[in-house]
Amino acid sequence: MREGAALLQGLAVCGHCGRRLAVHYSGRFAAPGYHCAGKNIVNGRGEYCLNIGGVQIDAAVAEAFLAALAPAGLEASLQAIEQFDADHETTLAQFRRDVERARYNAQRAERRYRAVDPGE
Ligand SMILES: [Zn+2]
Repeated sequence: MREGAALLQGLAVCGHCGRRLAVHYSGRFAAPGYHCAGKNIVNGRGEYCLNIGGVQIDAAVAEAFLAALAPAGLEASLQAIEQFDADHETTLAQFRRDVERARYNAQRAERRYRAVDPGE
């Protein structure tokens, strides 16, 4: 099982050559990493143009993403709470009217009942 999918899969591009970065998973915990498929010959060997571990980058991206999202999320939450409070008040007021009407009806029924009660 992979520890988690790389966040930037299909999104990140190489800062050196502009190629889209490929994702690989390496190590015992299949840590995600990104590499550029472009190869440079270094010391007679072909090496990836760019090859970086993805865990810290993904964490940083997630953090930045959440930070960017937070104000909007907070505002939406506050609106939801305000809406809930408004609905709650409306519901409570309606409930109180229902209770008041039920009590009135019950009292009237009781008076009517007592009025015709032959035992009275
Ligand atoms: Zn590259």
